[in-house]
Amino acid sequence: MRKSFISVLFVFAILFCLSEQAYSLSVAVPDKIRVAIAEDAEEIELAVKGPYKITTIETGEVLKEGEVLWQAKVRPFEHGIHFRTFKDDYFKIYGIEIIPARDPSIYVGKCLYRGRLQLIKTKQGLLSVINVLNIEDYIKGVLYNEISHRWPPEVIKAQAIASRTFAIYQAQQRSDKEYYLRADVSSQVYRGVFGEKFRTSKAVDETAGQILMYRGKVLPAFFHAACGGRTEKASRLWKISSRLKPLKGVNCPFCRNSPYFMWVKTVPLEDIESKIAIGRKRAGKIKHIKVLSRDRSGRLKKLKIYADRIISMDAKEFRNILGARVLNSTNFSISIEDNQAHFKGYGWGHGVGMCQWGAFSMAKKGYNCYQILRHYYPGAKVVRLK
Ligand SMILES: [Zn+2]
Repeated sequence: MRKSFISVLFVFAILFCLSEQAYSLSVAVPDKIRVAIAEDAEEIELAVKGPYKITTIETGEVLKEGEVLWQAKVRPFEHGIHFRTFKDDYFKIYGIEIIPARDPSIYVGKCLYRGRLQLIKTKQGLLSVINVLNIEDYIKGVLYNEISHRWPPEVIKAQAIASRTFAIYQAQQRSDKEYYLRADVSSQVYRGVFGEKFRTSKAVDETAGQILMYRGKVLPAFFHAACGGRTEKASRLWKISSRLKPLKGVNCPFCRNSPYFMWVKTVPLEDIESKIAIGRKRAGKIKHIKVLSRDRSGRLKKLKIYADRIISMDAKEFRNILGARVLNSTNFSISIEDNQAHFKGYGWGHGVGMCQWGAFSMAKKGYNCYQILRHYYPGAKVVRLK
């Protein structure tokens, strides 16, 4: 894929709202978002409900034009990409783009997508399906999956800015790749047009182009469901500078009344023993689990499992092994009784950045979206991309 297709637009960002003095700075952001809606697919069902063109990705040469594309089964074949409708179309090329005249009109399976669609035959002979669209349209397709559309407008706006920022940050990290984002939780859950709701799309429009920046760079604006009292320092979990002020962790008195502030779980020791055996060497019968250390937010750093062998483990790894839905966070205590481990914990999610339930409570108390963002990302500035 020629790099020129992953075009990067230099834009001016105007400092917005959070500082006394307006100034401008230049930020490199992609002009389009490239999101993989299918990877390594053997076949997809594709339809375009209106006029369309099929071009090569490389040169833009038009290979076919049509008034409507009825449900086509699209598969890779030896020399390129094969469309099967009433008749067969063989495109002897590895990358094609579907450009609709009306937006939105592209269906992949049962989902409707805005923008364009690229079909790329991979080295393994399978199909990558990439939706290429405006960032604002992408955020509209994401927001409802990340936050309730019934929540107060200011928290939805704060989430729109955080989601937009996080998407641009991830896009910058992968600006030389075939796609920037995935449509699942590894990026943000994206469902195309059917993921759009009136109140979430309104929040996107009202914050159009606004993102969080820190020291001239796009902030990795992580967020999570509930922090349980204090947000986590990002560098504890990921390779991120420990000096990144907006992600050092803040106290959060706001999520205390949320349904995820506190949780209790009971897990049979047998389950833990079998899972530890898969993740590492066999641990044997567990007698005791000891918390070795906690960080400033109260989350566990390390724990020790006393079984036939003694195993020291990062709490993050322990949570991954048991599952994020079993241990809602790494802020917990453990007691063992009757061959069962009893966990009592706080918060839901990794705990970094904006606490969504805390932000919900702030909005209910009358804080606006910029005050919410300033609380959870202290030192970051909201700028508007022009
Ligand atoms: Zn919180």
